[in-house]
Formats: sequence, structure tokens, C-alpha cells
Amino acid sequence: MDAHHGKGCARLAPLGLLILLPALGGASYRSANFVVEARTPEIARQVAERAESCRTTIARAYLGHELPRWRIPCPIRVRLTPGEAGGVTSFGFHEGKVSDQSMTVEGRLDRILASALPHEVTHTIFAAYLGGPMPRWADEGASLLSEDLAERRRHDRISIDLLARRGELPLSRLFVVEEYPSDLMGFYGQGYSISRFLIEMGGRPRFLEFVRDGMRDGWDASTRAHYQLANVHELDRAWRAWHRLVVQGGQLAQTDDIMAMH
Ligand SMILES: [Zn+2]
Repeated sequence: MDAHHGKGCARLAPLGLLILLPALGGASYRSANFVVEARTPEIARQVAERAESCRTTIARAYLGHELPRWRIPCPIRVRLTPGEAGGVTSFGFHEGKVSDQSMTVEGRLDRILASALPHEVTHTIFAAYLGGPMPRWADEGASLLSEDLAERRRHDRISIDLLARRGELPLSRLFVVEEYPSDLMGFYGQGYSISRFLIEMGGRPRFLEFVRDGMRDGWDASTRAHYQLANVHELDRAWRAWHRLVVQGGQLAQTDDIMAMH
């Protein structure tokens, strides 16, 4: 079991939610690939339809094609709260394939639809592609890139603060972090920034190939193969130069809006 956490993960207690949800009653809506539990049928339908459109669009952007229909629909539990949105998606893997997956999202409905759902659905596209856990920095970093402009701008600012206080990790370390470090916000901010940099340099499909090959062949070899730089140290230097010029220079979140792509 491998849990991926949205930015609200610190506030979420998955076990508590599981106990709480049956008591909420509510409704369920089944679409081709999702089965959504929410307070009302209308909310369940809206979430299911948005999840389907995220799944189609994000798969096309990263893979160049849609995913085949899942044999078992992915359950989504929706918990409406007054706050910002967050989510958790958990996966089991068996023989190089996703064997089970489930998602929880919480927050205001408009924030769930705009940010938490694209983020969590991106995790499901990556899990389907890799058939196993994705490195944390890339999984969270690129999922944050699927969120709306306000959230992407917020993470640009987090990355600026992180570099100003020299809290970032060398990429050679970031790439092999397996557990979430104590500075979770900084870790997300750096993963987001590197993912944005790599995607602006080479597009989304190449980013995924870089991650897949980095896990298999080593990060230096994958850097050479996909970005024509000598090694991860050179990639680190290139990211810092880009960050100074583009992000600190005020070009906030220029990466295209994935959910506006067709
Ligand atoms: Zn996440």
C-alpha cells in the first residue's frame, strides 16, 4: 500500500475519515472509471464528471493517449469542509500493475473541482504508467502542476522562499527521497519547481520517461538521455539558473494550464 498525500495531508486522517464517512450517509454516483460517495447525488455526479474529464485530459497530456477503462472503478470519497482542498490517493501494486486504488478529497467543492481532483487524478495516471510507486518529488511535484493557477503561483512563491533560506536539497538527494521529509512544504515546493522546469524544457511525456528511466538506469544516465546534460549536478545548476531568471524574475507559473488543454 502506498499513500500519496495532497497538500492537505497533514490535516487529513484517512483512518478517521473511513470511520466517519458511513455516518455521513449521502449518495453515490458511478461513472465509467469512478464511483463517488458524497453528501448529495448532484455533488457526487459533479465530482465524477470532473474526475473523468481530468483523467482523459491529463492522460493525453502525459501519455499522448487516453487510459483504457479501468476494470474496477476508483472509489472517491468526498468530504465537504469550509477550508481549502486536499486529498489522498492510495495504491496497491501487483506484478507491475495497479491492483487497487482509492481516493479521498476534502474541502470546498469549488476548490476540490479546480485543484484537488486534478492533483489526485494525476497520481492515478502516473501509477498506471509506472505500475509501481513514483519517486515522491516527481509524483507530488507534477501533480501540483495539474492544479489551478492560484495553487501553482503559491508553489512558485514557496520555492522562492525555500531557495532564499537555502532549505533546498541537492537534486541528487531529492531524487532518491523515499519518505516525506519533515519540511513537507519545502519538499513539495522544490518537487513542484523541478517538475515545472523539466516540463517547460521538454514537455510532459519526456518528463515521465525521464522519471521512469531514472529509477531504472540511474539519474545521471537519464539526465544525459533526456535533457542532454552531463549529469544530475549539471541539471541542478541548470534548474537554479532557470529559477533565478524565470521564477524569481517574476514569470510566475507560465506552464500551460493542463485542464485547458485538448
Ligand atoms: Zn499528492
